[in-house]
Amino acid sequence: MIDNIPPCPQCSGEYTYEMNNLVVCPACGHEWVPAADGAGAAAGAEAEERVIKDAVGNVLNDGDTVTVVKALKVKGNPSGIKAGTKVRNIRLVDGVDGHDIDCRIDGFGAMQLKSSVVKKA
Ligand SMILES: [Zn+2]
Repeated sequence: MIDNIPPCPQCSGEYTYEMNNLVVCPACGHEWVPAADGAGAAAGAEAEERVIKDAVGNVLNDGDTVTVVKALKVKGNPSGIKAGTKVRNIRLVDGVDGHDIDCRIDGFGAMQLKSSVVKKA
């Protein structure tokens, strides 16, 4: 049993009740699994400790200098980024599509890279 049944997250209805490990809201019919104590906090801590590693497993940090390990195509640039290109002062981001490094590359400007294509210099 849950001592304190939470109000409905959908309509804030207070007349919620427990049924088979679910909490049910009679006002809007919403059913959900009540969060265990501290579950939200734990998820937050996990995000905080996200570790980004380079192609060979070195942990990357903001401000690191890395080397691109393979040639990369760049939209609108015929030559692209060559393997061995040095990238200074990277910033780790939660980018889309696994692009977790924000950086500037000489001749290309600001762009995002995947940590799997760089190696810590
Ligand atoms: Zn509701």
